[in-house]
Amino acid sequence: MFTAGSLTGKAVTVMGLGRFGGGVGAVKFLCRQGARVTVTDSSTPEELAVSLAEIADCDIERFCLGGHPEIAFVEADLVVVNPAVCPDHPCLKWCRRKGVPLTTEIALFCQFNPARTIGVTGSNGKSTTATLIHTLLDAAGMRAFLGGNIGGSLLDSLDDIAADDWVILELSSFQLAYLDALFFSPQIAVVTNFSPNHLDWHGSLEEYRRAKQAILRWQCPHGIAVLNADDPASQNWPVNGRSLRIGIDESAADGVYRNCNGTGFVVRTGSATIAVEYPFAQQFPGRHQQENALAAVAASLAAGVPVEALTAGLSRFRPLPHRLEFLGEFRGRRFYNDSKATTPEAAQAALRAFDQPVVLLAGGADKHVDLRGLAASITERVKAVVLMGETAPVLEAFIREQAIQQTPAIQIAESFPAAFDWALAQSEPGDVVLLSPGCASFGWFRDFEDRGRKFAAAVERWGKSSA
Ligand code: ADP
Repeated sequence: MFTAGSLTGKAVTVMGLGRFGGGVGAVKFLCRQGARVTVTDSSTPEELAVSLAEIADCDIERFCLGGHPEIAFVEADLVVVNPAVCPDHPCLKWCRRKGVPLTTEIALFCQFNPARTIGVTGSNGKSTTATLIHTLLDAAGMRAFLGGNIGGSLLDSLDDIAADDWVILELSSFQLAYLDALFFSPQIAVVTNFSPNHLDWHGSLEEYRRAKQAILRWQCPHGIAVLNADDPASQNWPVNGRSLRIGIDESAADGVYRNCNGTGFVVRTGSATIAVEYPFAQQFPGRHQQENALAAVAASLAAGVPVEALTAGLSRFRPLPHRLEFLGEFRGRRFYNDSKATTPEAAQAALRAFDQPVVLLAGGADKHVDLRGLAASITERVKAVVLMGETAPVLEAFIREQAIQQTPAIQIAESFPAAFDWALAQSEPGDVVLLSPGCASFGWFRDFEDRGRKFAAAVERWGKSSA
């Protein structure tokens, strides 16, 4: 455990400056602590220009850009790694061989954070749920900070965070794997759902589950766990304290449930039940969005938000970009950008959210997860699908295998513009045109944001040209 001053004079290597703020936040923090900082990154100075500008004023001992030299690791007292780096990366092997301790930006934050935390994890819906919790606390006049896997770094805000504030952390399985070693657990833990993902990093489904369960593992008996009663894969995870359930169908257990016609929700604690009227299904179309909203409500209540303050907060919430984001209606077609659907389950959830005929853009990089479920949903719900990237052939084969009576129109695209043009050609007024790839973006795009922005730009061009 660090205390004030324990990093002073220490040789600390930050592996991966990156572009999402985590590396930058760690570098700035370590310099403020008086550490002797080395920064390594496989990208070039040009690629890192924005991040480098942010740390221009920091007193950094050594920069190693364009690679990760062994010396920067084996001679360090501590190495701060980007948690997404695979454990079998040579740099991490060098550290383990020499006994150099490894940490992460979020683990540093958790060790210095004076406030109470709400941690949010799950295979899908983390960012949305964490952001909604932040909105609900903020609307209730509570001081709350949002960070973790969602981007940026709360290390910059440490001086501002007080003991009676709340910090809401979106936590990935990678971050949790490191936090587990510190016996960290938030006061309130939310698990949205669980399905296979990131098996290349974790090695097996059991290890992935184990990492996710770290959010509950070290909670004390006063801790609160919010679990999804509708998700068989996580609803019975072991808890140490009190648990609150959320669900679309009401149940007798303490928790928050949607009412039967979607016009509100009920809060159940012990023998007391409070019904809250709210146009729930209207604001959160699709079962998955409602589950996220119910989890956010449950966590917020646990943090002390009064029931009366909930509806004002809920109505303030706007969906995050690239998560089933409505882009507009042009020539009778409604366009949705769900580029953040990098797992098959997320794309399946998006498909369930529509009653209209759907023309889908799907596929991408291969994360070695089973795509049969996605293929089945496509077969069942989609009128035409254009497949992109590495997974296109395997998705096509699964769709054809599963489509016994009716096969959707299928096209494998050679490029994104070709995919977009084909999707439009298949669409007609009354249809939804949906980008929900169910796969990672790398290969064809820089990241999911780049993919979503390219789709949104193509939609805008087509919308303008057809106005
Ligand atoms: P995460 O942070 O876990 O990646 P996001 O809130 O960023 O989750 O959403 C990522 C993708 O998953 C989006 O496509 C979104 O529409 C979809 N999604 C959001 N919540 C859920 C859920 N509860 N179940 C399945 N898919 C979801």
